[in-house]
Amino acid sequence: MSDGPTYGFDTLQIHAGARPDPATGARQTPIYQTTAYVFRDAEHAAALFNLQEVGYIYSRLTNPTVAVLQERVATLEGGVGAVCCSSGHAAQIMALFPLMGPGCNVVASTRLYGGTVTQFSQTIKRFGWEAKFVDTDDLDAVKAAIDENTRAVFCESIANPGGYVTDIRSLADVADDAGIPLIVDNTSATPYLCRPIEHGATLVVHSTTKYLTGNGTVTGGCIVDSGKFDWSANDKFPSLSEPETAYHGLKFHETFGPLAFTFHGIAIGLRDLGMTMNPQAAHYTLMGIETLSLRMERHVENAQKIAAWLEADDRVDYVTYAGLPSSPYHDRVKKNYPKGAGALFTFAVKGGYDSCVKLVNALEIFSHVANLGDARSLIIHSASTTHRQLSPEQQEAAGAGPNVVRVSIGIEDADDLIADLDQALSKASA
Ligand SMILES: *Cc1c(COP(=O)(O)O)cnc(C)c1O
Repeated sequence: MSDGPTYGFDTLQIHAGARPDPATGARQTPIYQTTAYVFRDAEHAAALFNLQEVGYIYSRLTNPTVAVLQERVATLEGGVGAVCCSSGHAAQIMALFPLMGPGCNVVASTRLYGGTVTQFSQTIKRFGWEAKFVDTDDLDAVKAAIDENTRAVFCESIANPGGYVTDIRSLADVADDAGIPLIVDNTSATPYLCRPIEHGATLVVHSTTKYLTGNGTVTGGCIVDSGKFDWSANDKFPSLSEPETAYHGLKFHETFGPLAFTFHGIAIGLRDLGMTMNPQAAHYTLMGIETLSLRMERHVENAQKIAAWLEADDRVDYVTYAGLPSSPYHDRVKKNYPKGAGALFTFAVKGGYDSCVKLVNALEIFSHVANLGDARSLIIHSASTTHRQLSPEQQEAAGAGPNVVRVSIGIEDADDLIADLDQALSKASA
């Protein structure tokens, strides 16, 4: 189908990027389980390698099943192109890679997925990159943190582990003034609840492992490009604006215009970093995306009910869900995230660390796992697991103190989930 702007989200989540298989007419997107593709002749091969013709060479770079997913996510996010890769963490490296070099830094929100905090505060140092963490509600602090070596601002839309939503527009304006892109991790919101590009984001990254796949089967990541950033407006992004030595001097921005970042991501990023998504993973994620809007509606409806029930319960200290009227971010949600605040939140259990551990052990429907965005409800005690590597200050800043558990509310019956929490809270406070 042609992806006209007239199609609604529910239509696009099923059809965008897909067409009946030209060879067989297969209606569902086939899993192209192949490593290589036969060139028509030597000239065809040369044109492909020169990026003069778009086509398939080798599955580290491109694969038809993965390509459908790329086009689908790009369409749902309102971007011009996307690159899929092997995990959400791979997507973050792949998003930063064309922008950064030794000595460059990224200004990042303090409220990020624990694994991202570790990746940014520790591992990227090995590349000579640095992350500066700031409270993104304090725009003056963001401005102050940006220096001549800053190449991006990075935040999450609905932040993990929960309770916080970002004012993307204000942050995008700050990044714009500094001549650098805003990268938004939209994993927890999904394009159904938030489309960061409409709020001024340049790049959107996803862990497709979570809601986009929606069933806890495969890891994957995606980077969507808005196509709106002028990479040649200043001299900060030579990989895109200047001759790229890694691709025999090709000037990506001049040659590919709004698709420069996407082409760079495939021709250099996937070619040389090799963090490729495999076609099986793309297949599972394509299956999941077909029902994204239906699942997100139920996720939000259940989260809203359960957060309200927990907030009213004596055994619970507080609930940080931006969908509750008590949240300081409630107005921001209504304005920027009108379909809801997602299904990920934290609550504090009276009795602290020990009660949290007992609660997690006593639950029967909720699974104790280090994952989120599954159809089934999940719980984790962040301080003893995902946020264990962080200092106590970083844990508090991330909203993951020792008395706090994070839940990812699934699409089961809300009443069953409430009954499960009720029995487990009794055991936890006994
Ligand atoms: C899970 C997650 C990641 C990392 O994704 P992986 O697929 O596990 O590598 C990054 N950001 C957010 C918000 C996540 O939830």
